[in-house]
Amino acid sequence: TELLPAVRATATVPVASGPIKGSTLIAEAVSAWFGTHKVLEQVDLTMPAGTVTALIGPSGCGKSTFLRILNRMHELIPAAALAGSVRLDGDDIYDAGHRITETRRRIGMVFQKPNPFPTMTIADNVTAGLKLTGQRVSRSGRDGLIEECLTKAGLWREVKDRMNEPGGALSGGQQQRLCIARSLAVRPDVLLMDEPCSALDPTSTRRIEETIGELAHEVTIVIVTHNMQQAARVSQQCAFFLAEQGTPGYIVESGETATIFSNPQDPRTYDYVNGRF
Ligand code: ADP
Ligand code: MG
Repeated sequence: TELLPAVRATATVPVASGPIKGSTLIAEAVSAWFGTHKVLEQVDLTMPAGTVTALIGPSGCGKSTFLRILNRMHELIPAAALAGSVRLDGDDIYDAGHRITETRRRIGMVFQKPNPFPTMTIADNVTAGLKLTGQRVSRSGRDGLIEECLTKAGLWREVKDRMNEPGGALSGGQQQRLCIARSLAVRPDVLLMDEPCSALDPTSTRRIEETIGELAHEVTIVIVTHNMQQAARVSQQCAFFLAEQGTPGYIVESGETATIFSNPQDPRTYDYVNGRF
């Protein structure tokens, strides 16, 4: 008998309209090593401006490594090596002439575990990245920026009377939205999210998914998720990573989310998205 896919790729999270901002990120022939251990093999992926790309695949297949490579965080790991290129609107971010602080400003990251500065106020958390990336904001512009970023992160109404409370006083889901607001304050072109909802309850998860849908037209989003329903809800494009028996991770298949979920080319993609391994 024919097996029906368990997950239907229907865009249940509304995508905001308006002019597309953001930047296009193109990874070409990316391979990666930790010492002599090769963990990624020849990864090619284009992440177009104004879209959400979901990276899916079993644990250990190199999704987080690939995400870190996209904003040069990979370089911070001792013995990490890299081949291939990552281009942000045409410029190779690994070129010697490319300034690392500018790269990190343009390509933000949100992690699995919410990591606001716990003792810093909510307001100061939002603007914390400005100093790190050498940006300035006037005293009068600061309040507007804080409200704008918290609104975009879907948190403003809940915290507008709590600006001087510490970030650590918020719930887990609120802390994650605060981290998203902090990433937005430096006006990134790309937002990388590594399992941003894995530590959150379903309601908080839904809030973050709505935020992703609203941000997508102004920031290019790349999200790692183990939640197939989430990948189907938030992304327009999916890349399925796999590492088989000690071989480095690679992309088995990438393409439009609807195709990956309902009509994949590779039987391993079908099995994975249907929860068979
Ligand atoms: P995923 O995010 O898909 O679970 P990772 O990118 O975390 O996969 O890991 C890919 C491979 O790289 C794994 O074999 C993992 O053990 C290895 N790895 C990840 N981070 C490091 C590190 N800092 N040092 C050495 N090996 C690492
Ligand atoms: Mg990971």
